[in-house]
Amino acid sequence: MTGLERWSPSVPKALLERTVVGVAPWRILSSYVKLLVGVSLKAQDHVITAHLPSLQRHAPSYDLLVVGGGIVGMATARELALRYPEMSIALVEKEPRLAMGQTGHNSGVIHMGLYYTPGSLKARLCVRGADLIYQYMDKRGIPYNKCGKVIVATDDDEVNRLRALYTRALVNGCKDIRLVNAEELKSIEPHCVGKMAIHSPHTGIVDWSRVTRAYAEDFTKAGGRIHTSYEVCGFDKAEEDNIAVQAKNGETLRAKWIISCCGLYSDRVAMMSGSPAEPKVVPIRGEYLVLDSSKCHLVKGNIYPVPNPQFPFLGVHFTPRMDGSVWVGPNAVLAFSREGYSYTDISWTDLKEMLCFSGLRKLMVKHWQFGAGEMWRSLNRRAQLKRVKKFIPGLTLSDLQPGPSGVRAMAMDSTGSMMGDFVFDQGQGEVGQRMLHVRNAPSPGATSSLAIAEMVADKAANTFKWTT
Ligand SMILES: Cc1cc2nc3c(=O)[nH]c(=O)nc-3n(C[C@H](O)[C@H](O)[C@H](O)COP(=O)(O)OP(=O)(O)OC[C@H]3O[C@@H](n4cnc5c(N)ncnc54)[C@H](O)[C@@H]3O)c2cc1C
Repeated sequence: MTGLERWSPSVPKALLERTVVGVAPWRILSSYVKLLVGVSLKAQDHVITAHLPSLQRHAPSYDLLVVGGGIVGMATARELALRYPEMSIALVEKEPRLAMGQTGHNSGVIHMGLYYTPGSLKARLCVRGADLIYQYMDKRGIPYNKCGKVIVATDDDEVNRLRALYTRALVNGCKDIRLVNAEELKSIEPHCVGKMAIHSPHTGIVDWSRVTRAYAEDFTKAGGRIHTSYEVCGFDKAEEDNIAVQAKNGETLRAKWIISCCGLYSDRVAMMSGSPAEPKVVPIRGEYLVLDSSKCHLVKGNIYPVPNPQFPFLGVHFTPRMDGSVWVGPNAVLAFSREGYSYTDISWTDLKEMLCFSGLRKLMVKHWQFGAGEMWRSLNRRAQLKRVKKFIPGLTLSDLQPGPSGVRAMAMDSTGSMMGDFVFDQGQGEVGQRMLHVRNAPSPGATSSLAIAEMVADKAANTFKWTT
């Protein structure tokens, strides 16, 4: 039995195999050698085609097709099926199961919208999304834990930033948040130290894959169809105002309208309909460590650092999970493939595309110190321990076990600016005009999913001139 299997027997084997820490060094080395001689370890030969050779005349036909079975696609399909019961709607997903992208590899936190720029879509959709998701989970009997959260300042500079964050959170309408001093912090998180903290009592945790499956049940009950293992590789004009949606396996479906919610592949799918290449998706891996089960009692709720305002990441945090374990992470390192869950997941095609992208090169030059620090702590658990011991001093190296990882779809433009907010887009030309693309759905996209779905449904009704 490996160390990984020991910390959580419930984690799927595939996830364990994609874990970074604990991979034998020779495997990492051999991967790089192969990469240098130009061998792709993973044949991810994504095909981007705007024109397809032959259209199947009798391919199944729908009014609307949603591409992408993560939480955003599934919430959108559900919302539309409930709003328009007379419409025939299907969802296609490239993987054999739903929620295998970012939705199935995240912190599992229900955010309350504390951090985000007032008035931004991120702030508005998160605050509304959190309200909607709690109501939904109560109605559907989905288990969650409103265990709360503290954002902890450990020095004077962080205290100043924390105060600014608190003001922002109030403007965003976050409910019942309070600034607490070191003593009060101890009463909330007895093992955590800090000078001052924001306490958010309504922040919670949930299994977002479980929520996605509930959306899928609602969708199919309302008459929707789900096609898994259907990787869209191109769109073309078909007869009777339809769009032919071609899959990599040769199948074709037809639909009058398309909405794509493709996470790590959102730019590539949007480009298939004539949309611009930017914002481009750069995959940023977030690795987690897992607290040894004997130390989980040290963490009651979510413990977050004061975030670095230069980056759209919330920082390495302690998060209790629904199974009783506690994760510590995620960090932020460049992934070497769109689905690069470990250092050995390398796609030459993806890597070449990333390195040829001027935006990423500019970002790397500007933030090389941050990147190098994250990489160092990724490879050196002792360095990561030093960072997290600031909050829980009682931890030792053996308390932190290697854990799973997720990959963020970081949308970026060619100046190297990271898109912090949600981005929605429409395709170009006769076919593209009948498509909407969710090009950037960053964290807290899972929390916001029901609010995003409402917004996309309104946008689709407007753009496609649907009437209820
Ligand atoms: C490390 C990490 C931690 C996070 N923590 C949180 C958190 O605590 N709380 C929170 O609210 N949010 C969190 N997020 C953000 C949240 O997970 C995402 O915003 C959300 O999951 C995005 O959902 P999505 O459906 O847009 O993308 P995804 O879940 O990535 O789904 C996209 C789907 O499209 C499919 N697809 C792609 N291309 C094709 C194609 N050509 N044909 C068919 N299907 C295709 C993919 O297989 C995938 O299933 C976190 C994200 C990460 C990475």
